[in-house]
Amino acid sequence: MTGYDWRRRLALFPDTTRLLGEDEEQQLVIAGCDLVELASEYGTPLYVYDQATMDNAVRSYRQALSASYPEAWGITYAAKALLCLAVGQWARQRDLFIDCSSAGEISIAVAAGVGRENLVVHGVNKSQADLDATLAHAGTIVVDNLFELERLLALVDGRTEPLPDLWLRLRPGLAVATHAYRQTGQESSKFGMDAAEVARAVGLCIERGLPPTGLHFHLGSQFQDPSPVTSALAVTLDLMVALRAEYGWSPTVLCPGGGWGVAYCEEDLPQPSIDDYVTLVARQVAQGCRQRQLPLPRLQLEPGRSLVARPGVALYRVGAMKHTSGRRWLLVDGGLADNPRPALYGSCYSALPVWQPARPPAEPQWIAGPYCESGDVMIHGLSLPEMHPGELLAVPVSGAYQLSMASNYNGARRPAVVWLRGGEAYPVQLREHAEDLLRRDLPLPGSALETLAY
Ligand SMILES: *Cc1c(COP(=O)(O)O)cnc(C)c1O
Repeated sequence: MTGYDWRRRLALFPDTTRLLGEDEEQQLVIAGCDLVELASEYGTPLYVYDQATMDNAVRSYRQALSASYPEAWGITYAAKALLCLAVGQWARQRDLFIDCSSAGEISIAVAAGVGRENLVVHGVNKSQADLDATLAHAGTIVVDNLFELERLLALVDGRTEPLPDLWLRLRPGLAVATHAYRQTGQESSKFGMDAAEVARAVGLCIERGLPPTGLHFHLGSQFQDPSPVTSALAVTLDLMVALRAEYGWSPTVLCPGGGWGVAYCEEDLPQPSIDDYVTLVARQVAQGCRQRQLPLPRLQLEPGRSLVARPGVALYRVGAMKHTSGRRWLLVDGGLADNPRPALYGSCYSALPVWQPARPPAEPQWIAGPYCESGDVMIHGLSLPEMHPGELLAVPVSGAYQLSMASNYNGARRPAVVWLRGGEAYPVQLREHAEDLLRRDLPLPGSALETLAY
């Protein structure tokens, strides 16, 4: 663990984070909003999102694409990182495509007003409901396997309504360096089709008069070394040459997925550069197509985490402290239920006190939540000032794959979400109440409660 360098830790927080006030009263402020006030108004755990940081990330993607890709390009927001009405509205306003992976996500995007042409549907085993929602609302479906393609072709046979564009998901047989649970492009992965299957899919689609329009791959999530993407692009471009020779077919869109990582703790800093990643990918597609005399496709990037992770901060209230053998525990009012990532991937996190972060550090602290799991430990041995019950702890880089994976474990009520923008705070998701925990439940009739002799 590194020492306590609170200024360096600030680099993990949203772009608008400031330390305001005089000596004793200094506290963290995001987008000009008082975090202490927000926590008392909406309760903790509380998730806040800084819109300016989200917009800055989109701008980085746009600037790098327009500077380094000579043909048409676009950005798809991978909604599984975080989706609610407000995020759908935000994506729609910026004319981002939005990638949904189920009928449920599609219904949220549609409620936010995302139009058909901007809605892309993914999924490794799309249900009938997913396919129905796709045909009703989406402009593009990314076909994962040949079974799905057969089902889809049967489903649309004889339909007169406009059909979504078909993209085919290739499994390039390459892995990015990340936790095994976040790899999706390796040969043994459950996602996508190998090159031979993609070729069969292209042939089948052409035969049925529905030529695909796009090729897609996604290698995995939270990687910081883009070299496997370089190899996957080479594999894909070679496949495009073969498909052109065999079928006279070329994709009009090429989507090399998302997955670009973010820094979660000081050890990960500096922040991986969006510009470096996008420039590398865009140049390689442009040059690779030229070398192979392929027409330049529209280049569609598909980021999730790198748009929403750092804009989000989780606020927790300190409840108790204790010492166990060799450990000093700081117990807060959230953890595993709103952020399963440490338990799922062993993810690292950092934190700062909201009030007076410049206080001198105490001995390292293990930050854990109230849940009945020994794996409910958010941060191991973090250098931090001594904190007291009732104080607020801010955990940065909490915007992606936390709320979207949150659960009601131990009867946890999922937290409120507040959207911060230029000094204004807009609540966009309410905190759940006890009634919400009973919403799906139906009582058994008295007659069903008798003890059974069996
Ligand atoms: C999850 C996912 C993404 C985005 O991944 P991030 O790590 O959030 O950028 C992109 N494409 C597909 C197909 C995905 O499943």
